[in-house]
Amino acid sequence: MNDLTAAANLASAAGHSHPAEGVAHATTSNASAAPMTVAEVEALFALPLMDLLHRAHTTHRAHFDANEVQRSALLSVKTGGCGENCGYCSQSAHHEGEKPRESLLSVEQVVAAATAAKEQGASRFCMGAAWRGPKDSDLVKVAEMVSAVKALGLETCVTLGMLKDGQAEALKDAGLDYYNHNLDTSAEHYTNIVTTHKQTDRVETLGRVRGAGLKVCSGGIVGMGESRRDRAALIAQLAAMEPPPESVPINHLTPIPGTPLENAPPLDPFEFVRTIAAARIAMPKSFVRLSAGRQNMSEELQAMCFFAGANSIFYGENLLTTENADAERDQALFAKLGLRAI
Ligand code: SF4
Repeated sequence: MNDLTAAANLASAAGHSHPAEGVAHATTSNASAAPMTVAEVEALFALPLMDLLHRAHTTHRAHFDANEVQRSALLSVKTGGCGENCGYCSQSAHHEGEKPRESLLSVEQVVAAATAAKEQGASRFCMGAAWRGPKDSDLVKVAEMVSAVKALGLETCVTLGMLKDGQAEALKDAGLDYYNHNLDTSAEHYTNIVTTHKQTDRVETLGRVRGAGLKVCSGGIVGMGESRRDRAALIAQLAAMEPPPESVPINHLTPIPGTPLENAPPLDPFEFVRTIAAARIAMPKSFVRLSAGRQNMSEELQAMCFFAGANSIFYGENLLTTENADAERDQALFAKLGLRAI
């Protein structure tokens, strides 16, 4: 289901970049020009790394201040017991590695966490619940949380699984800014990761979210045994949305013992950087979030990801059910790199 669960397991004018060798089509736009095809994104991946980084960074600077990074905080408001079987997820009731279950938090608990996140410098507060989708009675409680967090002056985001008609509108009315729902991986690879729903179900929910006037947060997870073509296809699919998601989390799988992907082969760190760079070029106006898996990355790798166009992170102590690099370490890294939080 979610960024946050994706995260759980573990958990945006065309840049005038140098027209690098091997890429015939240099179109990079979020809405105006034709989205990149899978083959074009694959061609980006195949570039010499320095050419790819140059192009991604040039694109990034054409649309953003390259020294600014947005920070979101994340809270699991309902943990474990999910009936879906996403292979990366420690909240699935299908897996031995399921996290201890926790029922829905109270509004007071959520407000306390959001207040702490704001004090630590977060500008957006994301709330995740491990559901296939919310019951209407649950949605009423989540809507209360959204209104309360919004009243603190934070942007709001939730990830609740698949939505039925009318639910996205109810969340919008409560003050919701973003809805997270990841495509996770390519349509082709999707059935290797989850069988209890289809990727098209997620696409439908994203349509409901857009239809309600909410901003979309949607990305994927890499390192799940997918091919480079799968990674390119995921990015091309996201870029082809009209418009592309405002927020694109790129998660690096953190294999969880007791889940089907516990022994997934590690992804080469440079391939992860290439994925960030390709996402930046294909979706120049979107915030690209360095998401789950960051806690296992060196400072140097994170810096390379920022150079490649990542300009958003999850910040704070918990990334739903996995550890996140703690706030102090992040502040120290920002100071070393001269990055400013927005
Ligand atoms: S739908 Fe359930 S199993 Fe799948 S990622 Fe979300 S919480 Fe985990």
